Amino acid sequence: MTDALYSVRNLSVEYGTRQGPVKAVNDVSFDIRKNEILGLVGESGCGKSTLGKAMLRMITKPGEITGGQLLFGGHDLMTLSSREMRSLRGSRLGMVFQDPMTSLNPVQRIVDHLTETILAHEKTTTAAAARTRASELVERLGIRRERIDDYPHQFSGGMRQRVMIALALALHADLVIADEPTTSLDVIVEAKFLDLLRELRDEFDLTIVMITHNIGVVAEIADRVAVMYAGRMAEIGDVREVFARPLHPYAEGLLKSVPNIELDGQELYKMDGSPPNLAFTPPGCSFHPRCPKALPICSDQVPVLRSVRADQETACWLYDDQTVEIAR
Ligand code: SF4
Repeated sequence: MTDALYSVRNLSVEYGTRQGPVKAVNDVSFDIRKNEILGLVGESGCGKSTLGKAMLRMITKPGEITGGQLLFGGHDLMTLSSREMRSLRGSRLGMVFQDPMTSLNPVQRIVDHLTETILAHEKTTTAAAARTRASELVERLGIRRERIDDYPHQFSGGMRQRVMIALALALHADLVIADEPTTSLDVIVEAKFLDLLRELRDEFDLTIVMITHNIGVVAEIADRVAVMYAGRMAEIGDVREVFARPLHPYAEGLLKSVPNIELDGQELYKMDGSPPNLAFTPPGCSFHPRCPKALPICSDQVPVLRSVRADQETACWLYDDQTVEIAR
């Protein structure tokens, strides 16, 4: 794909456990397009957060990237040294975590977080200029500039999330991976945060991967959506297409399970079963024990991700390899 900013190829991540190796990410390949917001969704434990961390090579023991390529900026990130990777993480790649308090030093003022970052990456900048830039950044993110002398605990959850975004902007990051950034926010703050992300994407030419279990957030903000199940990519495509006509039965079930205010009195759809223990994933398509449309081949062979519509790929045996739908 020509407009890919970042390409993941055949990525696998394993965790060593007492039950044996657990494949949290299993042979995943996809592209992230420049300037898009890609929503990465799936149930808890499907591997989406592990995938986000692996993309920045932030997997720590007992986890390990066991194979694949991470193509960004003309490099396979898997071939970079830890030092080179740290430098890239501190410049072109940023991460925003669910709880910003885990990333912000509680005894450091907000201004110190920002100016240290700016000074570390712009060697010619003076301390005064870095402070001015830090003030401008927080103000752009809707925080009064005099608040930069506060400590993280004096900020609300939404403000701390905005500080994390300010840090990524201070670095001029190309790609920001945000892991459940709205989980701790109330709906009003969440809506404002999503509006802000959209504005920043356009203003700063950002590319954003939004990892979330909240389908509503993806509908609100994403250009494309990627659906994971049991460590594999089940479906990826244009968000309107996937939401209107999901291909993969898991994606279909996930979307049908979202409460809809217009379905007055109707019972909410509930998918049968639960995701598998990743130490013992079923053979073939790991969704087959729960799938209402399973075919004989499904319990035997793993389907690969293939293009079915113009901007929609799925890994499901319901679709043949001629990029034509053969069953619905
Ligand atoms: Fe269902 Fe088979 Fe498709 Fe898996 S491959 S989602 S079991 S139809």
